[in-house]
Parts: sequence; C-alpha cells; structure tokens
Amino acid sequence: MTVTTEAKTFMNYINGEWEASSTNQVIASINPANKNEIVGYVQNSSKEDLDLAVAAAKKAQIEWKKLTGAVRGQYLYNVANAMEKRLGEIAECATREMGKTLAEAKGETTRGIAILRYYAGEGMRKVGDVIPATDNEALMFTTRTPLGVVGVITPWNFPVAIPIWKMAPALIYGNTVVIKPATETAVTCAKIVECFEEAELPAGVLNMVTGSGSVIGQGIADHPDINGITFTGSNGVGKKIGQAALARGAKYQLEMGGKNPVIVAADADLDLAVEATISGAFRSTGQKCTATSRVIVQSDVYEAFKEKLLAKTNEITIGDGLTEGIWMGPCANDNQLKTVLSYIEKGVEEGATLLLGGEQLKESDYEHGFYVQPTIFENVTTDMAIAQEEIFGPVIALMKVDSIKEALEIANDVQYGLSASIFTTNIGHMLSFINDMDAGLVRINAESAGVELQAPFGGMKQSSSHSREQGEAAKEFFTSIKTVFVKS
Ligand code: NAP
Ligand code: MG
Repeated sequence: MTVTTEAKTFMNYINGEWEASSTNQVIASINPANKNEIVGYVQNSSKEDLDLAVAAAKKAQIEWKKLTGAVRGQYLYNVANAMEKRLGEIAECATREMGKTLAEAKGETTRGIAILRYYAGEGMRKVGDVIPATDNEALMFTTRTPLGVVGVITPWNFPVAIPIWKMAPALIYGNTVVIKPATETAVTCAKIVECFEEAELPAGVLNMVTGSGSVIGQGIADHPDINGITFTGSNGVGKKIGQAALARGAKYQLEMGGKNPVIVAADADLDLAVEATISGAFRSTGQKCTATSRVIVQSDVYEAFKEKLLAKTNEITIGDGLTEGIWMGPCANDNQLKTVLSYIEKGVEEGATLLLGGEQLKESDYEHGFYVQPTIFENVTTDMAIAQEEIFGPVIALMKVDSIKEALEIANDVQYGLSASIFTTNIGHMLSFINDMDAGLVRINAESAGVELQAPFGGMKQSSSHSREQGEAAKEFFTSIKTVFVKS
C-alpha cells in the first residue's frame, strides 16, 4: 500500500478538544476507486477513550438541557452555515471515502444542511399537549424531557446525512451525543464534527470517538451512562446492540436492512418505471437501504419492460465518482465487492438466468478499485438467496407475475419491510398497494429509494426496531414524555 504523504490524521473529538487515542494506533481510510489512495487516518480508539467522551457528554448535558430550544437551534443554524461553506470539500471527501459520485455526495451534503436547519426550527415548536384533568382546579399537560447522553452508531453508505439526521434531533431536544461513525467513512464524519466546532458548540455537547465496531460500537451499547442508542446498519449488528441496550434498560432505535421491491403493473408508464428502477437499483452502486433489489413485473408487459431496462442499463458509465460523466462508482470496500460477487455466483448456482453484467471490472482504469457491473437476473424464484437476502450492491432480480395480487404476495414474502414502489395508473392497484404492502415507506410512481427529511422514515418487520426517525417522528425517540399535574 502506498502511503500518500498528504493524508492527514484525524483525532477523536472529546470535550471540545481533538485528542489522540490512548492506543496510539490509527486506521487508514481507503478510496474504493483507488485502493492505493489513503484519504486519511483515524484513531483506533479504546474503551478508555470512549469513557472520557461519555463522561464529557454526561457533564455537558446538565447545562445543555437548560438552554432554550431557540438557543440550541441557533447553534444548529450556525453548524448548517459552516457546513454550507464547506459543501464542496465535504462532498468530495465523501466520494473519495465511499465511492458514490460527486453529484450524489453533493446532494447528500445539501440534504445534511437542510436537516440541520429543519431541526434548528424544531427548537421553537410545541412539545406537549394540555389534557383535561378530572379535578377542574388542576392543570394537566405533557412536556418532553431529553434522554441524557445519546450514543450514535452510523454506517458508511450515507456518511453525511445519517450522522446528521441522528445528531441534530438528539441535540435540539437537549441530549448530548457521542458518535462512533463507520470506520470506512470516519474522515467525512470528522469534517462534519469540525463544523460543529466552528459553530462553537459548548465543550462536551458533541463528542466523536472512532474505532472498531466491536470495541467502540459495542462499548456504546454496553455503557451504563449512555441513556439512548440510535443505530443504522446491518441486522446482525443491530440485534446485538438492541439486546445489549435492553439488558441494561437503555432506549434504542435500530434502522437496518431492506429487500425492496418495485411492482410494475401492466398499465404502468414503462419508461418511467424503467428510469426509476435503474435509479433505485444502481445509484450509489445499490448501497442504499432503500435500494430496489426485486422487480416484479406483470407478464403482459414483462418483455417490453425487460428490453427497455437492459438497453438503459447498458448506457451506465462506471468509474471514479470524482470523474465528470460517471454515473456509477465502485462498491464502498473490498468486503462489499466480495459479498456482491458471491451473491451473483449464488444466483447462477441456484438457477436464475444472468441477463446482464455479473462481472468484476479489473482492467485499466478499474485495476485498483472495487468495481462491479450493474447486474440483472431473470427467472428468479422467491426461495432463492438473491430474492431473499440483502445484497447491498447493483443487482436486480426480475420476477414475472400474472396479477397484482400475486405481485403483492411476492413483494411481502421477505423478512424485510423498508421501502416499496408500484408503477401503475390504476387507482385500485394503488389502494391495494397502500393497504397491503408491508413496508414503512410505500411509493407510487416513484423509485423505492427516496427519503424526505421532514417525513418519518423506518421499516417494518426485520428492517427496524419499529421506531421511526426523521421529521417529527424523531421527537419520539430522542425525548421522554413527562405528564405534569399542577394544583395550587
Ligand atoms: P454494519 O457493519 O452493521 O456497521 C454499522 C455500524 O456499526 C458501523 O459504525 C460499525 O462500525 C458498527 N459496528 C460493527 N460491529 C459492531 C458491534 N459489534 N457493536 C456495535 N457496533 C458495531 O453496517 P454497514 O456495513 O456499515 O452498513 C450497511 C448496512 O446498513 C446494510 O445492511 C444497510 O441496509 C444498512 N442501512 C440501513 C439504513 C436504514 O435506514 N434502514 C440506512 C443505511 C444503511 P465499523 O464501521 O467500525 O465496523
Ligand atoms: Mg473507504
């Protein structure tokens, strides 16, 4: 591995200071478009570093929760302004760290800024209700109180938006935060934390500790002074965190995987359905929890849809996300690439027909990156691994059905329930889909990947711990309701 001389080392952020880990060890963050390029080094922290961060957060929370929502909101507005000035730099860093195209990374960073402003405003909105008491001389109402210290554990696929959509609501409602970002994208997170520093957030209110999931992530789940844990990532890790939190009575919120279907009805606008399928399945190289991975098409239009889908997919340009004109970048890391390739192999072994792609790209420009072709299978049956398991890569399973009823049965026949789409012009089909699709996000004539920051987001079944984040729903996790009864 060539060590790039300009690669900077990023510290932990604890009690308002940038601190090296007690281990004196660092981890290199690699560019998946060119594994010889080191984007930066981050601290490989220990449990002792985490303890310091939690102690700082616990202490700072006492004063932070006393501030008015308006004052806390002003800090978030200032963070948003600091980030806006560095939008280009942060987006470029995200592309270099995880591979999505610069256009997508800019879009994500812009969303991060909007989320900060949305929650800044939340500091001025209502937090409770007046409820008639049985005693007419008493006043009864609800108010909300922060949890205390919130542990934030994030994945690498949205390195800007996910940390912000957890930290901003945690902070506005009066909690303090310890974040452990995905190691793959910890440099991007350090730059976001720098924006909070620039906004002069009081020391200890936001702390970042980088390091391995098994040490720092698990340490957050187990820490007696962390009152709430918000996690986005894989199901295996999420369940362990949930169990650890439950065992010690901490509040937790888990957002996990998906196996998101798109249904194409015989009456659909096929061009729209093709465009949305490609965008949903292949943008971010299929590494969105809301990515389209199963496409269930009514037999009357199956061949026409397939033909258009193959033609459009063939036009996708693959390469370094920083290069102009590139539509799809590499997989975010070597493990992810290997997982995708192993699912493609499994699909072939289980008898699905590989229609397009399926290969790793290794020649010339692709030599040092984790590239795979956009891949389309047909003759996929519901029992196959590629129809059941989350691949987290640019792979589509095409399935043919006779009716919308059958399409819905197949769409629901997985353990996940995050997002789902239908393409149809028939109001009856739309209503059946709204009623019968088991997913936290159902979208009609729009791609499965598409999250609006002001609306609740989360999944059903194994996709989440049945909580929701973003929009007003964030309040439910980051606060506790207190019922107040007052009598003179
Ligand atoms: P992951 O391996 O579960 O990692 C997520 C986070 O957990 C990382 O910060 C990781 O740290 C940490 N971690 C790892 N092992 C841990 C442990 N034993 N205890 C506590 N924390 C631990 O997931 P990923 O590979 O980063 O992300 C991909 C997954 O995220 C996919 O399954 C995807 O569907 C899901 N996702 C879901 C949503 C949603 O909103 N539903 C959104 C985006 C992604 P390290 O980085 O140091 O390993
Ligand atoms: Mg990386």
